[in-house]
Amino acid sequence: MIDKKELKNIMESLPSDVRLVAVSKFKPNQDILDAYGLGIMDFGENRPQELKKKMEELPTDIRWHFIGHLQTNKIKMIIDNVHLIHSVDSEKLLDSINKEAKKRSRVVDCLLQVYIATEESKQGLTNQEVLKLVQQRESYGNVRICGLMGMASFSEEKEKVSGEFASLKKLFDKVRMENPEMASYFKELSMGMSGDYALAIEQGSTIVRIGSLIFGDRNSFTSL
Ligand SMILES: *Cc1c(COP(=O)(O)O)cnc(C)c1O
Repeated sequence: MIDKKELKNIMESLPSDVRLVAVSKFKPNQDILDAYGLGIMDFGENRPQELKKKMEELPTDIRWHFIGHLQTNKIKMIIDNVHLIHSVDSEKLLDSINKEAKKRSRVVDCLLQVYIATEESKQGLTNQEVLKLVQQRESYGNVRICGLMGMASFSEEKEKVSGEFASLKKLFDKVRMENPEMASYFKELSMGMSGDYALAIEQGSTIVRIGSLIFGDRNSFTSL
């Protein structure tokens, strides 16, 4: 069951230049169809197997966003129908996506995931690694680096969370400033989830990834 009222609230309250990705991981197809019926076209998933299945079963005009850690051997499962991969967290992964995309004569849109939280468990690249990959972008002819993604610390301290988002925005601006030729496509800043999306928007987010507010709490034991 989705929370239609909450979804409508979110849709109405988002600034027109901020895109909503409804994070439907662990949720059944019917929930996705309910949100789709209300006009949501962008859905986020974090497990390749689950995304592949949903891609096969659900309307083909859905834009699928991959937002989780992606193992190189799973790229094949999602690459043909993925709209945007938010979570490129290593050079090796970027390389492998590029190779798979090349085999298909495609260009795949990706975001670089940056480590901004103070929590050990969150994944991502350092600022230096981001700048290095951006420098090397000419060697990846089949991926387009469209921006950055980050997850803030899970914390009640608004200043801390805002500060982490601000640091990601700063890096985003630096890349744009130093690489003006990227300006036409390096445009996306994917930050903000159910608990912190308002803070992320204040700091310049262009894509928010919202799951539990729309779909309710996740229960990994729910069968698909
Ligand atoms: C699950 C997830 C979300 C959504 O989280 P909610 O708190 O349920 O809104 C956003 N981004 C990523 C990377 C996720 O894994």
